[in-house]
Amino acid sequence: MVRRQESSRGSMPLSELLVSKESKAMASFGVRDLDTMMRFAPRRYVVPAPLRSLHEVGEGEEVSAVVSVVSLRDRVMRSRRGFVLEVIVSDGIEDMPLTFFLTKQHQVAWHRGRLPVGAHIVVHGTVGRNDYRDELQIAHPTYEPYEDTDQGRAFAQRPRPVYPLRQNIAQATMRSAVEKGLEFAGSLSRPVPADVLARRGLPPLEEAVRLVHTPLTLEQMQQGMAHLRYEEAFVLQAIFAQRRAQDQRTPAPVLAAEGPLQGLFDERLPFSLTDGQREIGARLTERIGNGHPTSALLQGDVGSGKTVVALRAMLRAVDSGHQAALLAPTEVLAEQHHRTLLTLLGDLARAGQLDAHEEATRVRLLTGSQRTAGRRETLLDITSGQAGIVVGTHALLTENVEFASLGLVVIDEQHRFGVDHRRRLRTKGPAGQSPHVIVMTATPIPRTAALATVGDLDVLTLRESPGQRAGVTSFVVHEKLPKWERRMWARAAEEISAGRQVFVVCARIDEDDAADDAPAPSVLDENGKEQPPALDPARGVTQTAQRLAERPELAGVRVGVLHGRMSGEEKQQVMAQMASGEIDLLVSTTVIEVGVDVPNASVMIVLDAERFGVSQLHQLRGRVGRGEHPGIAFFDTSAVPGKEHSQHLEAIAGATDGFALAELDLRRRGAGDLVGEEQSGLQRTLKHLDVMRDARAIEQAREDAFAVVAADPDLTDHPALAGAIADRLRDADPDVERS
Ligand code: ADP
Ligand code: MG
Repeated sequence: MVRRQESSRGSMPLSELLVSKESKAMASFGVRDLDTMMRFAPRRYVVPAPLRSLHEVGEGEEVSAVVSVVSLRDRVMRSRRGFVLEVIVSDGIEDMPLTFFLTKQHQVAWHRGRLPVGAHIVVHGTVGRNDYRDELQIAHPTYEPYEDTDQGRAFAQRPRPVYPLRQNIAQATMRSAVEKGLEFAGSLSRPVPADVLARRGLPPLEEAVRLVHTPLTLEQMQQGMAHLRYEEAFVLQAIFAQRRAQDQRTPAPVLAAEGPLQGLFDERLPFSLTDGQREIGARLTERIGNGHPTSALLQGDVGSGKTVVALRAMLRAVDSGHQAALLAPTEVLAEQHHRTLLTLLGDLARAGQLDAHEEATRVRLLTGSQRTAGRRETLLDITSGQAGIVVGTHALLTENVEFASLGLVVIDEQHRFGVDHRRRLRTKGPAGQSPHVIVMTATPIPRTAALATVGDLDVLTLRESPGQRAGVTSFVVHEKLPKWERRMWARAAEEISAGRQVFVVCARIDEDDAADDAPAPSVLDENGKEQPPALDPARGVTQTAQRLAERPELAGVRVGVLHGRMSGEEKQQVMAQMASGEIDLLVSTTVIEVGVDVPNASVMIVLDAERFGVSQLHQLRGRVGRGEHPGIAFFDTSAVPGKEHSQHLEAIAGATDGFALAELDLRRRGAGDLVGEEQSGLQRTLKHLDVMRDARAIEQAREDAFAVVAADPDLTDHPALAGAIADRLRDADPDVERS
């Protein structure tokens, strides 16, 4: 589906500028106005073969040659309707015919008009053989007038843009559309101020689009592209700058109280906080205390201690007379978080109960599958403010749950949520104030990627993990090598007999259910073309559980099953059994992907691992090795050893640091997927920017855009920038709130 891209900049509609064939071709890419078309970059460039003489070339060769027209003749074709135009050209030594097969008389006249006898032209084409006469010819070459000067030679040798095409669209149509557009380049909207461009050594827009679409050299093309990349980064950063500026004008609850809950909690912690936890805690404290809404991204590997940091901030909210909400992507995880908080807080969470601490608050869980009576009570606690902390899925915010005074929202695993969700929290605070938001993610984002994608968030990173974790070692296992598989299951059995537990994750629930087959990840070749991956059908949870029960290595092992088609109650029961050790081996889908905490689990087996993304695999292996026992992760794959999927899995297995993985992921998939599929955000629509390659441009654009917005917050003096921002936001998400 092609999304309609309208411009709010009053850009010239292409239907007024181009012939209908051209404007339709552009419209098939959603390009409908001049500004969009001039920023629609070629997919690649072809550089013509070096100029040669005709007498040097042979059949099948691609050739560029300077020739002069000797004679022309045309005749009606006998075999089919149409005309043959034969143009004899010479390079001074050799003659060769150029042959055109044409359907209309006027086409013959058009070529004749451009090819007067004696004219110097440069031709590009492939040398072929005329079978009737057994002589060399060039059929349907492209040609243009040639001027024998340095300039003329350079022009003849210029790279030719190649635009993306759809069915029935000719490259020539796209090129002529763009070339017509270039004549009006002076009327383009220029969101980047001229002084900024000058300072960064970038060509003005009008020149930049010429360099992109009609470069004389690839270096020129790069200069032009540098402008488009910078412009894209600049507009994005201006959006972030405006959002920040708006936050600075928006009131938020002041979460500045020094206790008592947070102090009591700290005193009772069975461990001491790491330096990173302390430092980030202090920064968060400062942010949430200053009366304007904070938006922070708290990132750190699985087990790096984010939850503890976030909980301390939540307690500060309660201490300050407000509430905090903790949102998880699934009900299973919400339940898990609820249990974790109750454990961490002990009697501090038991307000209203006999054994409560006198300073205690209530920690409530609200999920969709709750029974009505319990649910009503919970809602009452939320509305009255009795519940200081509320845990739930993000339905908590979309359903009309009334908080007495919501001061802080902590969102776990932002890649499942969409960063832009937090914009919708704006009005959820008390008296129209905006609550603070902390987004926790275990998929750390390299710095420039974070700037380009979530640049309005304060990025806080926990780099070290608390010492106790025993860690995980990962291995790739090839399904087709039965010895390896046997060894893997035997290893799992050894761990189970030593009292530990095992997770087995499948890509789908049921093998008999075709609709359930998880879509295989797309693979891009080096040209960015999608390759259909040849993968075996994925194994299902149901069948895997049956097969495992029959494996001799696993005789007597208690196997449990968990997947998204079970009721909330069933799921909860299975998780409880896993937590209490009544299940030895749990076969599940990725419902356990994030956050599930079974410290006794030591083995993670991912079946058909090639179907999972980098961060998913990393999350999954982070489920084991969380306690005192070292973890082992097996990525079991049907991919051929040494082939791409297999190498990729080896790379993941070998990378332990979340940042190394994030970069691996970025290189492989691009930034769009970085923050997840449900992202409604800006990052999915990056057109020219590559967050790894363009790191410098992104940093510079950020500095420049923040300065522009600081000096002119409403962009009154920068209408072109304001227009580009509006376009960008509409592109990113038609429903997104403009701010
Ligand atoms: P994350 O949310 O980043 O995955 P958690 O906050 O859940 O990490 O912490 C993982 C485990 O480490 C939990 O069992 C937690 O209680 C424990 N933990 C957190 N901080 C520390 C610390 N400073 N020292 C020791 N253990 C810690
Ligand atoms: Mg956690």
